[in-house]
Amino acid sequence: MKNTNEMKIIFDSRPVNEGLARVTVAAFCTQMNPTLEEVADLKTAVSEAVTNCIIHGYEGEVRKIEMVCRQRERELTVDITDHGVGITDIEKAMEPLYTTKPDAERSGMGFTFMEAFMDEVSVVSEPGQGTTVHMKKIIGRQ
Ligand code: ATP
Ligand code: MG
Repeated sequence: MKNTNEMKIIFDSRPVNEGLARVTVAAFCTQMNPTLEEVADLKTAVSEAVTNCIIHGYEGEVRKIEMVCRQRERELTVDITDHGVGITDIEKAMEPLYTTKPDAERSGMGFTFMEAFMDEVSVVSEPGQGTTVHMKKIIGRQ
């Protein structure tokens, strides 16, 4: 297939690796000639998804997070997966201001930011099995 590229990284669910995931997606999309705003949007969305894996998926336990980036023409998809607790009611979890950790400085806006900064966000999750957040963005919109 013409003009495609793919990468996968697996890293520990430590807060220090939020930065790793952010710069990795930024580096990967460089080939697509993005604007600074598009890079900032991607980094923010990836940060939110990775933070959720660390805080909610693994509840602070150090396990593995996977990030797969795929480029096809001008479309970038990013899939972020944990094998943690999973989400029972995905629709509710994605509502603005909904959080299951209101005591821990959470505002319940993570999914809302992901949806604002990406063109598509969808979640696949199985309680007790884990969660994958799929995100898509067209880069270099004229
Ligand atoms: P904020 O992102 O504003 O700090 P938050 O993380 O609670 O707060 P969202 O990111 O929108 O808000 O997530 C909403 C809820 O979805 C979380 O409170 C949590 O219950 C659930 N959730 C999100 N990601 C995961 C995950 N990877 N595993 C398990 N539950 C998750
Ligand atoms: Mg969050």
